[in-house]
Amino acid sequence: MIENITNTCEGCDRSLGENALMLSMRTEGGERRAYECACGAVTVTVTR
Ligand SMILES: [Zn+2]
Repeated sequence: MIENITNTCEGCDRSLGENALMLSMRTEGGERRAYECACGAVTVTVTR
């Protein structure tokens, strides 16, 4: 599977890369990832 997802901070619109990845967790609904930005905002994404 190829992943090409761009994550953007909800707080400051910065792009979030792997270095901002704080937590990833697989659930029945998909993979949830929590990114913590340098500004302190946490953005959660769900990949199906
Ligand atoms: Zn930010």
